[in-house]
This record gives sequence, structure tokens and C-alpha cells, in this order.
Amino acid sequence: MFNSKNVSLDSFQSGAMVTTPNREIIYVNSYFEQELNWQHDSLLGKSTDVLFTYSSKIFCESYLVPILFTEKKCEEMQLALLDGNGNRVPVIINAKVNDEGLVFWSFFNASKRDVLYQELLEARERLEQLSSTDDLTGLLNRRAFDERATIALEVASRSNQPVSAVLIDIDYFKKINDSYGHFEGDRVLRELGLLLQKFGRISDLIARYGGEEFLIILPDTDKEGAAILTQRIHSLVGQIFVGKNPITVSIGLCTYQGKSIALNSIYRQADDMLYLAKNNGRNRTECVVINEGT
Ligand code: GH3
Ligand code: MG
Ligand code: MG
Repeated sequence: MFNSKNVSLDSFQSGAMVTTPNREIIYVNSYFEQELNWQHDSLLGKSTDVLFTYSSKIFCESYLVPILFTEKKCEEMQLALLDGNGNRVPVIINAKVNDEGLVFWSFFNASKRDVLYQELLEARERLEQLSSTDDLTGLLNRRAFDERATIALEVASRSNQPVSAVLIDIDYFKKINDSYGHFEGDRVLRELGLLLQKFGRISDLIARYGGEEFLIILPDTDKEGAAILTQRIHSLVGQIFVGKNPITVSIGLCTYQGKSIALNSIYRQADDMLYLAKNNGRNRTECVVINEGT
């Protein structure tokens, strides 16, 4: 039979604590011993500081306590406690101040919520990753590339740095599809994607921009720097074979230095150079340098 006389604060699956106005602990329920491995007596007479992690102590001093003493209560503060073994335990805290200035704290373990939150963050990151990359190669897709490249071009113009756009197109790719099938074509695209990713710098933006067209924006890179890169691309694509033949690519390069340039303008210039490279025999790079005012 239920008898309310048998109910105490020790019956609840949450921490209850009372402190003096200067936060000396004068009561804790058995939750601290049973769930948080604190010896009951080792907490009494201590400051609440022993219970909080370093960053929670700072949060407590600068935010929680001022609110507590102006509003006489605080609700759903997310902090981290230390258990008796020094492990971090995320908790939600509610607290209330009575007329004598004693503070009544309640703690709810938020570990599961913390894990869930972390999982949600990771899921969001994965989704972002998926929505910004191309399925076949894992490189940036056109939408994500456009967003980031626009920012990179803006930064380059503000800091008056040169920026280069490299447009790469596989030579006679239709033949590869026609002679060896679409799957083989896809394999070549994947391998080229991997190869470009491998020797790009972290600041370089690399996208699969169209079917078998790849676009790279190289921040802070002049014509000479970009030409070194395109030469390396020409020689490295020779490692990708279709049947007995290595593939080749043609490259259009545009290096720009000036006030600001729109992505579609620098792309168009690179595309004109790519067209020239195709006409001049393929397996080569053609380039144009544009300086603001020329
Ligand atoms: P060129 O040397 O002039 O570039 O000749 P090309 O045959 O490569 O001509 P083009 O660049 O116009 O060919 C593009 C081909 O790429 C046409 C299309 O069938 C193929 N393609 C586009 N996207 C994909 C893809 O995702 N997978 C495969 N396997 N093929 C693709
Ligand atoms: Mg093409
Ligand atoms: Mg092609």
C-alpha cells in the first residue's frame, strides 16, 4: 500500500541538494552516492565548486548565480557535473532560492540527451556532406562549389591576390563510353576525381562541374603556379588506363588578378581556353591571364 510517509527525497531518480547563500553544501539526497559515486559526507560542508567541471564553474559564476539571485530561480540550465570518480556527467539544473537565501537545487542526468544531441549533429554533418558532394567522385557538386568559389573569389579580390581557374575535360570520353561501356566511363571519372583530390591543397576548391568536366579554383595562385599544377595533371592522368591506353585531358586555365570577378566570367574564360586546347590538338593546356584594367 502506498504510504506518503515512506516517500523521501531519496526515492527520486534525480539529484537534490540544498546550499547556503554562499553555496556551501548542507544537504544532498542519496542520488549523489548511488548514481554519482560521491560519498555522502564528503560533500557536506564543501563549496558547490567541487561538483562542477571547470567550464561549468565559470558558467555558474558568470551566469547561473547572478540569475539565481536576481530572479530567485533558474530553469533548465545545461551544465556538467563531476561524479565521485572525476567523470563528466552532463546535467540539467533547476534551482530555487527560499526566503532565507537557501538554494534548492535539482539535477537531472542529461547523458542520453547529450548523446542524442551529438548524434543529431553528426547526422546533420553527414547530410550536409551528402548534399554538397557529387555521388560518383565525392568531389564538391556544382551547387556547393559555386557557393564556396564565389566567396573565394571575393576574398582574392579584397586581398589583391591572383586566383586561377582550371577547367579539365577528358579527351574523347564518348569513345571510352562507346567502346568499353558506361561503367568503365564512370570508373575513369572516379579515378580522375580521386587523383585531383589527392594533390589539391586544402584551400583549393575542386568540383565535378559537368558530366566529365572538372573545375578547380586555386586561391592565391598565379599563372606559373597554376601551370605547374596543370603539367602535373597531364602527367598523372597517364596513370589512368582504359584498355591499353592511358587517358588524356585538355585543360583551360584562366588566371585573374584584379578588383573582383564573377565565377561565371572566370569560368567562361577558362572554357574558351579549353576549346582552344581541344582545337590545338588536345592533351594540353591553354591559358589566359587577365589583369584588371588590361
Ligand atoms: P572531347 O575530346 O572533344 O572532349 O570529346 P568527348 O568525347 O570527351 O566529348 P564531350 O566532352 O562532349 O563528351 C562528353 C561525354 O561524357 C558525353 C557523355 O556521354 C559522357 N558523360 C557525361 N556524364 C557522364 C557520366 O556521369 N558517366 C559516364 N560514363 N559518361 C558521362
Ligand atoms: Mg566535355
Ligand atoms: Mg571530353
